[in-house]
Amino acid sequence: MSKKATNDLQDLQYFGEYGGVNPSISDSSTYTFLSAKTMFDTFEGNTEGCYLYSRHSSPSNLYLGEALAALEGTETANVTASGMGAISAVIMELCGANDHIVSSRTVYGGTYALMKNFLKKFNIQTHFLDITDLKAVKAAITPKTKMIYCESVSNPLLEVADLAALARLAKEHHIPLVVDNTFSPLSISPAKLGASVVIHSLTKFINGTSDCVAGAICGSKDFCLSLKDVNSGAGMLLGSTLDSLRAASILKNMRTLHLRMKKHSQNALYLAQRFQEDGLRVMYPGLPSHPGHLIMEDQMNRDYGFGGLLTLDVGSLEKANALMERMQDKKLGYLAVSLGFYKTLFSAPGSSTSSEIPLEEQKEMGLGEGLIRFSIGLDDDIERTYQMMRDCMRQLHILDSEKQRS
Ligand code: PLP
Repeated sequence: MSKKATNDLQDLQYFGEYGGVNPSISDSSTYTFLSAKTMFDTFEGNTEGCYLYSRHSSPSNLYLGEALAALEGTETANVTASGMGAISAVIMELCGANDHIVSSRTVYGGTYALMKNFLKKFNIQTHFLDITDLKAVKAAITPKTKMIYCESVSNPLLEVADLAALARLAKEHHIPLVVDNTFSPLSISPAKLGASVVIHSLTKFINGTSDCVAGAICGSKDFCLSLKDVNSGAGMLLGSTLDSLRAASILKNMRTLHLRMKKHSQNALYLAQRFQEDGLRVMYPGLPSHPGHLIMEDQMNRDYGFGGLLTLDVGSLEKANALMERMQDKKLGYLAVSLGFYKTLFSAPGSSTSSEIPLEEQKEMGLGEGLIRFSIGLDDDIERTYQMMRDCMRQLHILDSEKQRS
């Protein structure tokens, strides 16, 4: 894989209104026009570089969108007030009443609930399946299918989608492949593998400071403009617009994304390897034992590693809770949902971020109640972190019992 996306990102250079090294933050909800005619033309979408109203677009949001398009190698990108704001706008833009979606069954719980429950109101049906089973994906596509939807590396099970193969399948059926790349910014470039639309929850790695929620839709100029259409665009009309102040702060944080992703990945790989040697039930795409390892190796931008997330199944929810509480007491991280923070975050997805998925379905997809999802932090001394985590597991008899079991 080429490193072009990062070079594009690196080459972005802004001059603020007064020559500042950061672009000025746009601080207006509305914009003046010198002539009424220009205002009319702007409403019609016929003017370049004119701003109308900040729900439509704002200079700060456009700057951030430009950086995200460079990151993903797409023509352009729109930013939204949350990852769910991006996902819901894309779905509502691409689907109408009675349409059909083919989706991975291991997606973020909110996405699952949106597709399974909320979209029922419009009789939009979603066929959830194992996205790694390409035959099943092909068989599920009907004349009403409007998209194939997946996460490049899935939440929380870290399944790796074969994006090039899915993109070929989507193309054969003249439908878009929509990919949520929240777990693997820089590591995977879905658009380069053929995805039509790439979504992010910027809340996670891209912002990296756990201080706001935001999202992005990266795609073609036509698609992103259609989302902003004043008469029919799902972005414009559903109104999940990001605030300019936040867009500006996320853009500044993005400048260290490449360094952070390398460190998150290095630390996660180190821990995954040690946990595996200890006989623990660890899943990490960087381990050869992971079912998606070869696909990930094939489609990743190697410099950024296999990502910052790993899962550990400690057998029961009681043990998972005890371990997380102890690790938090030892200042190894936070018992919190979300990911991409400088400190390690851990949660049991079955009872938190994936609790929208019914228990039987969780079981069927391999989401055990003792599963802990770790978003590994930027710890400088990861060997020390490992020793301390190991001590916690030993004290709770997790390590011994796992060793006996393996
Ligand atoms: N996509 C993934 C993979 C997520 O993990 C999440 C949130 O956890 C979302 C989307 C939703 O993003 P947000 O919370 O920014 O709306």
